Amino acid sequence: MKKAIFVFLSVTLFLFLTACGDDSTSGDDAGTVGISMPTQSSERWIADGNNMVEQFEELGYKTNLQYAEDVIENQIDQIENMITRGVDALVIAAIDGESLTEVLDLAASMDIPVIAYDRLIRGSEHVSYYATFDNFQVGVLKGEYIEEYLGLANGDGPFNIELFAGSPDDNNAYFFFDGAMSVLEPYIDSGQLVVQSGQTDFQQVATLRWDGSAAQERMDNLLSGFYTDKTLDAVLSPYDGISIGIISSLKGVGYGEADLPMPVVTGQDAERPSVVSIIAGEQTQTIFKDTRELAGKAVEMVDSLLKGEEAEVNDTTTYDNGVKVVPSYLLKPVSVDINNYKDVLVGSGYYDESDFED
Ligand code: BGC
Repeated sequence: MKKAIFVFLSVTLFLFLTACGDDSTSGDDAGTVGISMPTQSSERWIADGNNMVEQFEELGYKTNLQYAEDVIENQIDQIENMITRGVDALVIAAIDGESLTEVLDLAASMDIPVIAYDRLIRGSEHVSYYATFDNFQVGVLKGEYIEEYLGLANGDGPFNIELFAGSPDDNNAYFFFDGAMSVLEPYIDSGQLVVQSGQTDFQQVATLRWDGSAAQERMDNLLSGFYTDKTLDAVLSPYDGISIGIISSLKGVGYGEADLPMPVVTGQDAERPSVVSIIAGEQTQTIFKDTRELAGKAVEMVDSLLKGEEAEVNDTTTYDNGVKVVPSYLLKPVSVDINNYKDVLVGSGYYDESDFED
């Protein structure tokens, strides 16, 4: 009897401990993949994480998904922990693309391959592949949107514009800014676009950790410093969370009311609050990057690596991480505004129309 109780308790304890582990389980055992994401404060990364877990599980992998809440040390600790637990591969969207060299050395010493997810990991040879979107093109789409909206190609202007860029520790931020400036700079040079603040260098307009409230504060300062007797016509914003901050600031001084229309404000990620804002006529545009497709690419890359095969790439020249050019797969970003959001976002099944009801 005692033995039966002991066996029963042991089995119960085993089942309990298994259920408590943070590795998700599925039927087959193709291996375990550690997925390190930057933050849950932005919807897109939640979608990225969930999409990968789902797609890895479909192929029989287990996953260990962790979010580091934009704290670099958390991310390093979480990755170290995944390595210690014996993951077979790592997929990482870095908070700071320069800070993972040592932990990637550790992964390499255990033969764990690493995929850079959406953001390039710099300063390490131990990055097998990079799955991302065409980041320069993301910027071009924003620049072209402003160009078209203001009629710049027809010679209209002058218009006032202010520029915002993303986090200086994220390689993507430079690509987005450079892509947008490739379209906008000629108009700044010709005087059709005027940056009243004079802040046109990346370092002057960057937003550490893509922080929306920091952007809101900067917009407050720009408005009170340069626009008390002038109207702002356009804002280049790199990311929806930043756009929302900028729009709050603009609304605070009366933009969006009948006598003071909202400037054209760009964005990125097609996050729900920004689509709601577009429908309400506040934010003007965003860039949709289908996280289901990106997850699919990362999953394919890991699967190929673990089977000893080569993964499909479509760019072997652009993404030099300082140590090597990382073979990459670049997906296509799509510009979204009030006219096509239904087709692109609802039509593709990414969202349901009811997601946009408050
Ligand atoms: C991503 C963007 C995102 C930004 C802020 C970038 O690395 O490519 O999609 O808007 O990070 O999270």
